[in-house]
Amino acid sequence: MAYYNEHTILYLNGEFVKASEAKTDFYSQSLHYGYAVFEGIRSYRTASGATKIFKAEAHFDRLRRSALALNMPYTYSSLALEEATYELLRLNNLQDAYIRPLVYAPANMSFNLNKESFIAIEVWEMAPFLGDKLLRVMTSGFQRPNPRGFRIEAKATGHYVNSILASQEAKAAGFDEALLTDMNGQVAEGPGANVFFEKDGKLFTPPAGNILPGITRATVKEICLELGIEVEEKLFSVEELKGADAAFFCGTAAEVIGWDSLDESVFPIKWNETVSRRIQLAYGNLVKEKQELPQLA
Ligand code: PMP
Repeated sequence: MAYYNEHTILYLNGEFVKASEAKTDFYSQSLHYGYAVFEGIRSYRTASGATKIFKAEAHFDRLRRSALALNMPYTYSSLALEEATYELLRLNNLQDAYIRPLVYAPANMSFNLNKESFIAIEVWEMAPFLGDKLLRVMTSGFQRPNPRGFRIEAKATGHYVNSILASQEAKAAGFDEALLTDMNGQVAEGPGANVFFEKDGKLFTPPAGNILPGITRATVKEICLELGIEVEEKLFSVEELKGADAAFFCGTAAEVIGWDSLDESVFPIKWNETVSRRIQLAYGNLVKEKQELPQLA
């Protein structure tokens, strides 16, 4: 996919510049050691026709927390970055977009602290979500990083080597996506999404500690509260997950996406008849600011 062309504009350290002309530093600590933090955000063309960045403040606040967790200098205000992003969307003529802020380090081949950080924000078109294809998921041979070895709650670029390995392994084996366990073998999350399962109309998801506790995960919990669906955070095994009625991944890019099977063990309830499907529909309405209540297909 083409992320940019000769007309694309990106935001770079306070300026709007052509993506094809923007420069970065080959001596950056970020490039050599995976020492950078980023966000994955989406904007939507809402029911009124306006462009809305979904949960912008929560994402830019997490960017700040991620940078501070990695001891990176961080001087940007969430509001200023949000305003710059709206301007960037306008300059690139985008409404349904993926937004990728990246905070990176200057030239530094040592492991020492830096005096400054740099920021880029890139945007590209994101096709509206369809949500009808269910995923065939494989339990990965890779575990999520040990939280005593990383700031696992930070969205740091280096963590994504783990995600890439797991996702590539699953796809090479003919599956759509991987499910990773934590260092104790309990279910953790996907390479780029959190996991929920449904049993007897109730939802379960792993607690914070070994995962990136996503903004979509928090939104799903809010939707459950509104719809009167019970949610419990607890640790659970792959075996328990295989005994579920249904399961789904959720994340900014993935939105809410149901599973067909885990390790070829198919979930028994038809996706359209699950409470998870109601949550998927409610999420779709929420991001587009549609008022109507979710209807089951
Ligand atoms: N876990 C991981 C490892 C992720 O990369 C993501 C995507 N940011 C998520 C969970 C979901 O987070 P969010 O809902 O904030 O996008």
